[in-house]
Amino acid sequence: MAVLALALLWLRASRSRAQEKDVRSYPVQKTEAEWKAQLTAEQFRILRQKGTERAFTGGFHDHHESGRYLCVACSQVLFDSTSKFDSGTGWPSFFQPFRLGSLVEETDRSWGMTRVEVLCANCGGHLGHLFRDGPRPTGLRYCINSACLRFEPGSAGPGERQQEEAKPGK
Ligand SMILES: [Zn+2]
Repeated sequence: MAVLALALLWLRASRSRAQEKDVRSYPVQKTEAEWKAQLTAEQFRILRQKGTERAFTGGFHDHHESGRYLCVACSQVLFDSTSKFDSGTGWPSFFQPFRLGSLVEETDRSWGMTRVEVLCANCGGHLGHLFRDGPRPTGLRYCINSACLRFEPGSAGPGERQQEEAKPGK
């Protein structure tokens, strides 16, 4: 019994250490109350509690305009329309991020599966998952919840991507 209690204590301690590490590693830091005030209930459930919207219910799975997709929580540019493709899954899907480093990947072992979770590197918001059955050229499929995205119409070519990357301090 004592051993079990100790093991539970250790688990709890290592989990809170991991949470502290998460809290430290993202530039945008807000309390749960601040996120709740800023986000809709659905956005909060997905971004901060790692939820998933039901397939085909979000605003962007069938969205084909030219432009960029920003994190709805912190406005970091995450994807652009040139890397969006129709996966047929009911969630917006992209074969590459807007910039290397705009996303963080974590191992997700929930629901008896091992998946790669994708988070916003700026605010730590949960965005969706990464699968390796995407189209060329990357073979990647970033399966993202519409509720985590804000769309900004405009040109979204590779030229703009390079300019964005060339900006100092980015
Ligand atoms: Zn963000």
